[in-house]
Amino acid sequence: MANFRFVALKKTLERPVKPVTYPSEKASDYFGSMTFNRSVMKEYLTEEAFNGVVQAMDKSVRIDRKITDQVASAMKAWALNKGVTHYTHWFHPLTGSTAEKHDAFISPIEKGKAIEEFQGNSLIQQEPDASSFPSGGIRSTFEARGYTAWDPTSPAFIIENTLCIPTIFVSYTGDSLDYKTPLLKSMRALDSAAVEICKYFDKGINKVYPNLGWEQEYFLVDSALFAARPDLVLTGKTVFGHSSAKDQQLSDHYFGTIHNRVLAFMQDLEVESHKLGIPLKTRHNEVAPSQFECAPVFEEANIAVDHNQLLMHLLDVVARRHNFNVLLHEKPYAGVNGSGKHNNWSMATNTGVNLLSPGKTKNDNFQFIVMLANILKAVHENEELVRASVASAGNDLRLGANEAPPAIISVFVGEQISATLNEIENMPDRSMMNHRLDKEVEIDIPKIPEILFDNTDRNRTSPFAFTGNKFEFRAVGSTANTAKPMFVLNTIIADQLTKFKTDVDKLIVDGMKKNEAMFEVSKKYIRESKNIRFEGNSYSKEWEKEAAKRGLSNNRTTPEALGAFVSEKSIGLFERHNVMSKTEVEARYAIKLEKYTKKVQIESRIMGDLATNHILPTAIHYQNRLIENAKGLKEVLDSKSFVKLSKNQLNTIKEISNHISEIKEYVERMVEARKIANAIDNDLERASSYNNSVKLYFEDIRYHVDKLEMLVDDEMWPLPKYRELLFIK
Ligand code: ADP
Ligand code: MG
Repeated sequence: MANFRFVALKKTLERPVKPVTYPSEKASDYFGSMTFNRSVMKEYLTEEAFNGVVQAMDKSVRIDRKITDQVASAMKAWALNKGVTHYTHWFHPLTGSTAEKHDAFISPIEKGKAIEEFQGNSLIQQEPDASSFPSGGIRSTFEARGYTAWDPTSPAFIIENTLCIPTIFVSYTGDSLDYKTPLLKSMRALDSAAVEICKYFDKGINKVYPNLGWEQEYFLVDSALFAARPDLVLTGKTVFGHSSAKDQQLSDHYFGTIHNRVLAFMQDLEVESHKLGIPLKTRHNEVAPSQFECAPVFEEANIAVDHNQLLMHLLDVVARRHNFNVLLHEKPYAGVNGSGKHNNWSMATNTGVNLLSPGKTKNDNFQFIVMLANILKAVHENEELVRASVASAGNDLRLGANEAPPAIISVFVGEQISATLNEIENMPDRSMMNHRLDKEVEIDIPKIPEILFDNTDRNRTSPFAFTGNKFEFRAVGSTANTAKPMFVLNTIIADQLTKFKTDVDKLIVDGMKKNEAMFEVSKKYIRESKNIRFEGNSYSKEWEKEAAKRGLSNNRTTPEALGAFVSEKSIGLFERHNVMSKTEVEARYAIKLEKYTKKVQIESRIMGDLATNHILPTAIHYQNRLIENAKGLKEVLDSKSFVKLSKNQLNTIKEISNHISEIKEYVERMVEARKIANAIDNDLERASSYNNSVKLYFEDIRYHVDKLEMLVDDEMWPLPKYRELLFIK
C-alpha cells in the first residue's frame, strides 16, 4: 500500500492559488453588509422600534415586547432579501465554541402552501434542549430545558444563508450556562463602579465600557498533510515529531513576505470578516514557520468577543476553501512558538475619553493615575484569579515555555510610568506633612508628575503590559473564548473601584478634600501593589525566584491554577458584583476540570494508538530489513570482516529494539495510570491524577518515537514530518 504520507505530500505540490473575488472595489462598500446594523435597522424599522433597540444597545434598557414583533419582521424581510432560509440563536456554551440550531423560516399554511414566518417570540427567546451542553451539575437530569435570550447589544448577522441572532444561554433555573452572561454582567458592574469614580472628575460621564482589541495567532497546515496526522485531526496538535533541521532559528518568518497561497486565504478571510462587520486590520507572518496573526480594530468588549468567536469560525471555514486546515491549538508543534491571543483592554467613557490614556492636562493625568493605581491594586489582589482565567490544558504547554508570558502574573508599566509611580509613592504622607502641605492642599490637584509615555517602551515577556493607552493581557490562549479573561478583568477592576470609592469617601468625611483624598488612596494602592510590578525579563529563572520571594503565585498547570477560581474570595467577588452566583462559579470550575481531564485523556489515547499501531509496526518492519541485511552480510563475508563491517547494522538493530521496548513499556504504564485516574470520582483529584501521572509519560514516549523517526528509513515513516508540516510549498 502506498504510504499515505507521500500521497499527501504529492497533493500539496499540486495546490493552485485560489484568487479572491472581491464583492466590490472598496471594502467600505460591503463592510457590515451581512449584519443587521444600525443603518439597516433605520431603513427597516419604524422610528419607535428603532429608538427602542438603540436604547437597549446604548443604555441597556429592556426592549418592549410590542417592539420585538416589529424587529423580528424587519429582520426577516432584510434576511429574505439576502437569500436567507433559516434562522438560529447563536450562543457561547461552556464547550468553548459557539452553538447554533437552525430553524427554517418556512411555515405551512392551509391547502399545502407555506409562508415565511418569524415572530417576536422566536427572536427574543428559544428553548433548546440543554442536556448535551456542559452544565457542571446545574442542570438537573429531569429538567433539560435551557433558554436562549436575545442580546440586542450585538447585531444579528448572516452566515451561509442563516440568520444568526446573538443570545445568552441560561438554565431553567436562570443560572448562566454560557460565557456571555457573566461578561455582560461584569460590564454592568464595571460601568457602575467606574462611573462613580469618573464623576469625581467629570459630572458629564454616565457610562464606562471596556474596549477589547484581540490579536489572534494561528497556524496553517495543508489539508492533505493534516488528514495524514490523526493526532492533528483529533487534538489539533502533534503528539510526535522530531524537530525540523530548520524551523524558526533564523527568525526569517516573522513579518516576512506572505506566501501567495496564504495571502489569498487571508484576503478571502478579510472579505468574509468585513462583510460581517469584523474590522480586521492587521495581518502578518508570526515567529514560527506557517504561523500567522490577524487583528481587528478594537471594539466594545461584548462585540469584540462575539467577533473573535466568529473569526475563529471563519478561519476554519475559509482555510478549508484554500485546502488548508487552521490550527488554533496553543501548542501544535513542540520546539517552535505556540499561539496566543493578546487581549488589549481599556476603559472608555460616553464622553469619548479613554481612561487609560495619560492626558495632556493635570486633571486627565490625575484621572489616569487613579485608574492605574486601581488596576495595579486589583491585579495584585487577584493575581491567582487572573492566572486562572486563562488556564487550559493547551495553554499550560505555552505559559512559561520561553515564548509566552509565564504562569506568574505581573504588570509591566514601562520606565517612565514606573518612575512616576515611584515618585508618587515616595511623596510624604499627608499626616506627616500636615502643617507644611496645607498650602498645597488648597491647590485643586495634588502634585502629579508629568507623564511622558515612550511608545517604544515595550516588554514582550510581560503577561500584563501597559502599552500606551491600554493593557495588553498576553497570557490568553489562542483557543480561548476571550469572554472569560474579560469578565474576570472587568469584575476585579469593578471591585477595586468600589473599594476605592469607599476609601476616598471615608477620608472626605474625615475632612480631607476630594482630590487630596483620591491622591492619598491612590498612593496607598501604588505602595501596596508594588510587588505586582515587574519591568525585567519575565521569562528568566531569576524572575521565578524573585516572584516567589515576593509571594506571587506560580501555578503552572490548570488543575493547580483553577482553585483560585472557586476560592471563597473569588466567589465573594463574583457574588458582590452580581456577575455569578456560587452555584455558577462552582459549575464552571467542575466543567473546566472535566474538560482538562478529557483533553489529556484524548491526547493520551491518540498517543497510545499512534505509538502502537503506526510507529511500532513501522520500526519493526525496518528492523526486520536490517536483520535480513545482517544475515546476508554474514553469508557473503568471512567471519572476521563480518564482525568488523556489521557493527553499525547490529547497533542500529539494538537501538531500535531498545526504543521499541521503551515505547511499549511506557505506553503500558500510561494506560495503567489512565485506569487509575479514571476510577477517581472527585473532579479535582481526577484532573490532578491526569496532570501528575498520565501526562508524565507523554515526554518519555515522545522521546523514543522521535528517536525512531531519525533511525527509520524515510520512505517507511507513516506520519508527515515537521519539516513537511511546517513549510508551505
Ligand atoms: P501591537 O501590540 O502588535 O503593537 P497594536 O498597537 O497595533 O498592536 O494594537 C493591537 C490591538 O490593540 C489592536 O486590536 C488595536 O485595535 C488594539 N487597541 C489599540 N488601542 C486600544 C485601546 N485603547 N483599547 C483596546 N484596544 C486597543
Ligand atoms: Mg500586541
